[in-house]
Amino acid sequence: MNLGVDCYPFYVPLIDLNQQGFPSNYDVCVIGAGAAGITLALELSDAGQNVLLCEAGDRRFDAASQDAYQGELTGEKYYELITARMRYFGGTTNHWAGYCHPLQEIDFAPRNDLVVPGWPIAYEDIWPHYERAGQITDLPDNAWDFDGLKAAAQLPTILGADSGMDSLAFRWPREFKFRKLYLDQLIATPNVTIALNANLVDLEFGVASKFVSSAKFKNYNGDTYTASADKYVIACGGIENAKLLLNFADSHTELMDVAGNIGQYFMEHLCYYNSAYIITGKQEVEYLQKLVGGQPSDVGNYQWVAVPNAEARAEHDLAANVSITLDDTRFFAPDTILADPVTKGVQSLMKNTKVSGSDQIIYCYLRGEQLPNPESNIQLSDQRDEQGLRRVTLNWGFDPRDLKSMVGTIGLFGQVMAKQDLGRVCMIPPDGLGQFTTIYGGYHHMGTTRMSETAEHGVVDTNCRVHGIDNLYMGGSSVFSTGGWANPTINVVAFAVRLAEHLKQV
Ligand SMILES: Cc1cc2nc3c(=O)[nH]c(=O)nc-3n(C[C@H](O)[C@H](O)[C@H](O)COP(=O)(O)OP(=O)(O)OC[C@H]3O[C@@H](n4cnc5c(N)ncnc54)[C@H](O)[C@@H]3O)c2cc1C
Repeated sequence: MNLGVDCYPFYVPLIDLNQQGFPSNYDVCVIGAGAAGITLALELSDAGQNVLLCEAGDRRFDAASQDAYQGELTGEKYYELITARMRYFGGTTNHWAGYCHPLQEIDFAPRNDLVVPGWPIAYEDIWPHYERAGQITDLPDNAWDFDGLKAAAQLPTILGADSGMDSLAFRWPREFKFRKLYLDQLIATPNVTIALNANLVDLEFGVASKFVSSAKFKNYNGDTYTASADKYVIACGGIENAKLLLNFADSHTELMDVAGNIGQYFMEHLCYYNSAYIITGKQEVEYLQKLVGGQPSDVGNYQWVAVPNAEARAEHDLAANVSITLDDTRFFAPDTILADPVTKGVQSLMKNTKVSGSDQIIYCYLRGEQLPNPESNIQLSDQRDEQGLRRVTLNWGFDPRDLKSMVGTIGLFGQVMAKQDLGRVCMIPPDGLGQFTTIYGGYHHMGTTRMSETAEHGVVDTNCRVHGIDNLYMGGSSVFSTGGWANPTINVVAFAVRLAEHLKQV
């Protein structure tokens, strides 16, 4: 497709790098058209900047592009990397589950129990950007007004002031896929050029100073093209951001300051389900069912979340931030559970638990923060992808305090439920019953180019700029210093809105 390629630069909405090169110099070159890259393109173009948005894939899934996401696994059991993200326009929003919740104030508070410093910015630095992030992610109005939501949905109050836990709520977008929301809009935006089939393969650096002078892209015919811009943002996802910088650090001494930190402190969310549950009665189930919420209809667009507050975390030595939600797909009577092969692992525990014939079971879903851990990281493997870049090995590791915090949080929740006579909470300890009690990742890849005050503890500064490089920035959850319990994408979008604000001014 050729959409007016000869007209420079405002009338070049779409380039297919399989067919042609880049026509001009841009204000900002954004690499990766997922949640972060699309947000940057929207915000920067809105402010009149000329944006080149380079995407490795095309408009639809294609195996040739996806193949670059293959990698190896060591450490804790994890998903095949090729299945854990999507490599075409819209990125992994093409199949995410849409759970949205902002990072919390407590995530940004000073923390002296981490092996590296936590966030070098304050909650107030990011909070103002969530309203716009909610709009871009297509969330309903007033997405974060929990009190309003509680009144509208008539949610029961089960966490009193003395419970040690706070009530929050997940929200969902109306339309999940950023590709559907924004591809046509961006094509129609005069000062945005989208390049498809454009795989970033290298950066060129200026001689006198540490700045990027151009970026090299390969198409799927093996041709290489060079694009130049005043500023560059790499927004290729939490694993790929590290893969690219690690590859570049091999040959570019300009990245020397941060080289040792690239790919370090890989963080996920520790998801634990099937194995913690409330044994309760029929009436209580009906009472609690409202808290489960529902998927994105206007009335059901919430899911209640319980999290320990700061005082309870200190009192119970809960180093990591953990949340609990109730899961309505598993409202089974005990007989059903015992017959269900998927949840068969619960049988062992049930044998030791007094359950009457009329009892009901509600499953609890735990999402736990993973503390930054030097034993959890992305490294380069000896294999190369089709573009010649070395592939990655994910070495996923936990800190024992991650699991301790999950067990402590469910214990606290159990006390709340027992005090109100709402049910008995049971939890099978992680790996207590083999495959039925395994911790899973949430497909959330964080921390691999983390934000830090100095190059000693991370890769980017407080403006997401790579330490020591004047005009190279990172977008996405790779910049997270800590991950909290909340799913990352709305936070990725809020950080991209914040980064765009910065880029408009420099
Ligand atoms: C099954 C699943 C369920 C999920 N559910 C949730 C959820 O409920 N809530 C939530 O918050 N998050 C969820 N996520 C995570 C969510 O999808 C990501 O947080 C989000 O997509 C990250 O946005 P991003 O822009 O950083 O990366 P991505 O969306 O992955 O976008 C990266 C883009 O970069 C492109 N790219 C890669 N390499 C190159 C290169 N070399 N050159 C040019 N372009 C390149 C890719 O093609 C892609 O378009 C889920 C993920 C999965 C897999």
